[in-house]
Amino acid sequence: MTTTPSSNGRRLSRRHVLKSGAAALGGGAALLTGEPESTAQAPAVATGSQTGRTFKGLVRHANTLDIQEMRLLPIDARQVVIRSLAVAPCYTIVRGALGTNSIRRAEVPNHCGFGVVEAVGAQVRRVQVGDRVVVAGTSQCGQCYQCLQGRPDYCQFTFFSNAPGVEPFPPFAQFLDGTPVYAQAGIGGMSEIMTAFEEYCVPVFTDLPPVQLTLLGDQLASGFAAGHADMHFQPGSDVVVFGAGPVGLGAVQAGRVMGAGQVIAVDPIKYRREFALKLGATTTLDPVAEGDGIVERVRELCRGANDRRFAGGVTWGRAANAAPARGADFVVEAAGLQAFPPKVEAQPDPTNVKTVQQAWDCTRMGGHVMLMGFTLQPVSFPGASLALFGRTIHPGQQGGLHVMRDIPRYVKLIEKGKIDATSVITKKYSFAESRQAVQDTADRTIITGVIEFS
Ligand SMILES: [Zn+2]
Ligand SMILES: [Zn+2]
Repeated sequence: MTTTPSSNGRRLSRRHVLKSGAAALGGGAALLTGEPESTAQAPAVATGSQTGRTFKGLVRHANTLDIQEMRLLPIDARQVVIRSLAVAPCYTIVRGALGTNSIRRAEVPNHCGFGVVEAVGAQVRRVQVGDRVVVAGTSQCGQCYQCLQGRPDYCQFTFFSNAPGVEPFPPFAQFLDGTPVYAQAGIGGMSEIMTAFEEYCVPVFTDLPPVQLTLLGDQLASGFAAGHADMHFQPGSDVVVFGAGPVGLGAVQAGRVMGAGQVIAVDPIKYRREFALKLGATTTLDPVAEGDGIVERVRELCRGANDRRFAGGVTWGRAANAAPARGADFVVEAAGLQAFPPKVEAQPDPTNVKTVQQAWDCTRMGGHVMLMGFTLQPVSFPGASLALFGRTIHPGQQGGLHVMRDIPRYVKLIEKGKIDATSVITKKYSFAESRQAVQDTADRTIITGVIEFS
């Protein structure tokens, strides 16, 4: 596909609104379609043409990460052009984004965002120009095998790849010298303009501010989904959450909203443990202070009110192999690996292998454990226990989130004050400060940092 830069990709004042309907664009692939809705959320920047318009983005290129000017390429017929309003960098990007090795292609980091639709490809049906959209880290196409099996958290569109050697997602922009610029995971997010396939876009119809809504594309929504979308925390049940970062605190909130009997939050960082108590944790544990004793500590906390065999007692068994009967009903491992030494308390095991094993051990026989945090090393489990003392292991890909079903629900829960999407934002940044937002995320000196685009 060739690029035909437009001569009129100008920025207009905020008083102007997009007036025309369909308009052919350069490159022949994309069309502006539909009349924007005349709401207070109409685009503040009117664009008569999209292809060739210039904008800025945070870009990892060569051996650096900085803000660069670039030019939009033509969109696919199923892609959407979005003017970014807010984005929260995810911890999973910090290793790549802040690395100093030379990389083979220029890329805008992150895999979620929030903004206003400014143009749609000819085949787009889900969103319209003027819609406010959460761009989620996971797609939901509704048509692939996984979506048809009821598992859109594994939508094959997300895991789509082309022929070997072919980029699954084409570049969405180019530097002014013509160097192609890609978006991480086909989404990016840390640029004034982003493009996304419609399968990743979830229109939201609410007056909630962009800084809160952008949390529903990834961290907060994933953590809350851990307790709601797949595992289904039961009222009165015992819940343990490893990691009180942006994801883990979402799971803590799910414990509170879904009426867990107790929510035990585990994190080495003192300010995060204190924060967890404000969001619904009933107990916090420091994994450094607890050491290997943390499993037995959790089992004691979940021992229940009586130990009588015929009265529902959890701990009546005295045999050695009765130990696995004890533990939490639901455990979420959201600690993840430690990509950089933080400026606050460090994790006891930076690889996260031990935390994954402890999460499994803390789960009672017949209970449920979700593994959300990455570890790059193999993890071993005792074979006999794995076979006999069954815990159901749930994969943690976005916590089992079904983006088109769940994000509108979470919007309602934020509106009703059930989900706190305010206090979890501990720092806001201008777009010019976006590199610092990534650095602070890596340093773990903030819970969630949100970049606001002006
Ligand atoms: Zn993420
Ligand atoms: Zn699908």
